[in-house]
Amino acid sequence: MPNQPDILEKLVSLCKRRGFIFQSSEIYGGAGSVWDYGPLGVELKKNLKDRWWHAMVRARDDIEGLDAAILMHPRVWEASGHVAGFTDPLVDCRNCKKRFRADDPKIKGVPGTPEAQCPACGMKGTLSEPRMFNLMFKTFIGPVEDSASVAYLRPETAQGIYVNFLNVQQSTRQKVPFGIAQIGKAFRNEITPGNFIFRTREFEQMEMQFFVEPGTDMHWFEYWKEQRMNWHKALGLDPARLLFHQHTPEELAHYARAAFDIQFDFGGTLDFQEIEGVHNRGDFDLSRHQEYSGKKLEYFDQPNNRRYVPFVVETSVGADRTTLAVLVNAYREETVEGESEGRTVLGLHPALAPIKAGIFPLVKKDGMPEFAEKLANELRPQFPVFYDESAAIGRRYRRQDEVGTPYCITIDGQTIADGTVTLRDRDTLQQERIAAGRVGEVIRARLAT
Ligand code: ATP
Repeated sequence: MPNQPDILEKLVSLCKRRGFIFQSSEIYGGAGSVWDYGPLGVELKKNLKDRWWHAMVRARDDIEGLDAAILMHPRVWEASGHVAGFTDPLVDCRNCKKRFRADDPKIKGVPGTPEAQCPACGMKGTLSEPRMFNLMFKTFIGPVEDSASVAYLRPETAQGIYVNFLNVQQSTRQKVPFGIAQIGKAFRNEITPGNFIFRTREFEQMEMQFFVEPGTDMHWFEYWKEQRMNWHKALGLDPARLLFHQHTPEELAHYARAAFDIQFDFGGTLDFQEIEGVHNRGDFDLSRHQEYSGKKLEYFDQPNNRRYVPFVVETSVGADRTTLAVLVNAYREETVEGESEGRTVLGLHPALAPIKAGIFPLVKKDGMPEFAEKLANELRPQFPVFYDESAAIGRRYRRQDEVGTPYCITIDGQTIADGTVTLRDRDTLQQERIAAGRVGEVIRARLAT
């Protein structure tokens, strides 16, 4: 039994209704498993990425940022092993033409034999033998579609970091140990995408490669495991829903020296799933690029007058998948004391919330809208605010609760008399009266914690 209820369906509906996430090309019937971030979703995901960038790049002096291109030299993907090995076994049903991963638990029997039954149409003996399917999207550079112009959409951002290792090291004069971080799109022609933004064919990764002296790699591996788990907890993800999964010998890539996934409990049928991988990759990547490019990718250790190929500890986290974890973690339905209607709340970390404060005149008269609009204009340059004068005040509070706005400011009769406003907290529902002139500083202080 899963520990957490399945709320994915409710979340998909809320995300559409409130402008977080829309299905791609919806007016054409939708593109399957492709999603667009709406006005609130783009803010949420951007806040998440900014937090990662701040923790990994800006708050440290041993990690440099990079933004490498999606298209790379095709040899990169031979060196990385993706052309030969980035494959999933696939079976086809000759009857209904559906495709499945060969290890799909819904398949009964061994694909390719007369006993195997198609999980979609139920026919026996129609499933093909497994064949390997490369997950990279292929395209062509320039007007000629021949083998010499083949290019791939990158299936991970990491290779852009490896091939720039010496460019970054020499231009910044960083000394090992140091890291390179980047955020960017990756593309995988997944056979079974699904579960909203959990698994899509186009997604964003936030990856960091930390280059270390061989022999110190396990120390740094442990360090990064802890750092990354703490980062997820600081996002507000419930610690009881987070765990480490150590790769078994079968799961471990042949070159990897150690690998742990950070898993989050998405509830329902998804249950615990990977949101981030922390990998000790040894010198596999830099050595392969040396071999395939014919260019040395060694670090020169000046104090010891020694050259070596550094080992790499990688942290790789999905921006979309973590956005989903944040939404699942934040969603709750509550009854409100003394009220017949309950409320839906996104208990987002204030730093992630797309809107930081709702600003409401209690009624549309007696100078309240003018006061409220002036306050909104003063606060807007400091953080995102939303001015709302429509509907009853309770409705306006509910609308903000549902999109995770941590504070609501109400301008009432007393405001006009003494210049104070009420500041309502989304989670405690407590309201305090403070001077309108202090609201900005009070909210900014709370957002910073
Ligand atoms: P999975 O086993 O779930 O396919 P993976 O082990 O292939 O993931 P990595 O290659 O380690 O994933 O990628 C690092 C991170 O990128 C994952 O932890 C996940 O957050 C994200 N990610 C990978 N594939 C997808 C995808 N198809 N859609 C959304 N996010 C993805």
